[in-house]
Amino acid sequence: MPKAAVVHDFKAPLTIEERPIPTPQEGQVLVRIEASGLCHTDIHAAHGDWPVKPTLPLVPGHEGVGRVQAAGPGVHATIGEGDRVAIPWLGYACGECRYCNDGRETLCERQLNSGYSRDGAYAEYATGFARHLVKVPDGVPSLVAAPLTCAGVTTYKAVKVSGARPSMLAAVFGVGGLGHLAVQYARIAGCSVVAVDIHQDKLDFARELGAEHTVNASEEDPVAAIKALGGADVAIATAVSPRAFEQAYAAMARGGTLVFVGLPAENHVQLPIFETVLNGITIRGSIVGTHRDLEEVFALHQDGRTRVLYETRTLDQVNEAFREVEDGTAGTARLVFEF
Ligand code: NAD
Ligand code: ZN
Ligand code: ZN
Repeated sequence: MPKAAVVHDFKAPLTIEERPIPTPQEGQVLVRIEASGLCHTDIHAAHGDWPVKPTLPLVPGHEGVGRVQAAGPGVHATIGEGDRVAIPWLGYACGECRYCNDGRETLCERQLNSGYSRDGAYAEYATGFARHLVKVPDGVPSLVAAPLTCAGVTTYKAVKVSGARPSMLAAVFGVGGLGHLAVQYARIAGCSVVAVDIHQDKLDFARELGAEHTVNASEEDPVAAIKALGGADVAIATAVSPRAFEQAYAAMARGGTLVFVGLPAENHVQLPIFETVLNGITIRGSIVGTHRDLEEVFALHQDGRTRVLYETRTLDQVNEAFREVEDGTAGTARLVFEF
């Protein structure tokens, strides 16, 4: 029987279990997973970190890439047997509400999320609603497509909504799975980039990927360092720490836009009203990206415009892999389970 990694208890490690191959329901297809990225969200899901908890037992994973093996009833999408597809966080959206109808399906109130409110891709087989799967172009290998499916699309969208333009200074706080791609999308938008992290290896990656400036926040005050560069016109906060969000805020240039992307377990920041008003600061939240955004992310990669830094692990190593990401010892930007 095929294997899956399962969360049974927010305080216990995941277990590797044998599970029957799932049967695709109405509108769904069955995917044989080839690669599944480890997003920090999966760790939050497994720990029950957020105000809205997933229902257990849960198979996490929303950076799943694999081949369609069978289609359930009523699948009329352009996706069919044999296609290589990505299973993103947005597992289902209603297609009828005001958000779905104006290209903001990631805000749908009836959405289901892969690896959170429905079983995800930490498994040899997963199902997905055909309408929400995104075809992976031939030039993008599965191990690379996996991190692009959440880390990529999320930061691509965040940079888009930040209003980043050529010659702006973009600050990226946290250079993990999301951040190492945020650096590259900010470069593609024409910004010069300052990257902030608390681990030196992450900052070395950021430089390799085009950041002109790096700040090790465990040794140096990132606010002073970024202010010395003139302040950030846009900032993308992906770090798993509210402190980093407050620092990003304090490092903004007047008129700047700070995009909240990371979702630390500690849910609150303290920000001043007076400075926000007088400095004309915009703060906005950004949640993943749409189906179309992910197609654009894959196209950019196929064009050779982005690089994904990853290492592989096996699904059996899931608990160890979680620890590596939490401790910052993974030695790469993204871990990907290879099947
Ligand atoms: P990650 O663990 O790969 O990266 C986080 C990085 O932040 C690490 O490099 C870490 O060293 C760094 N960091 C930690 N504390 C810091 C601090 N005080 N200052 C600077 N850097 C610091 O995690 P990830 O997979 O990139 O995910 C990041 C966050 O984004 C998670 O909370 C995740 O749930 C969230 N997320 C949000 C969305 C969205 O749509 N908004 C999508 C995916 C993930
Ligand atoms: Zn994710
Ligand atoms: Zn909807």
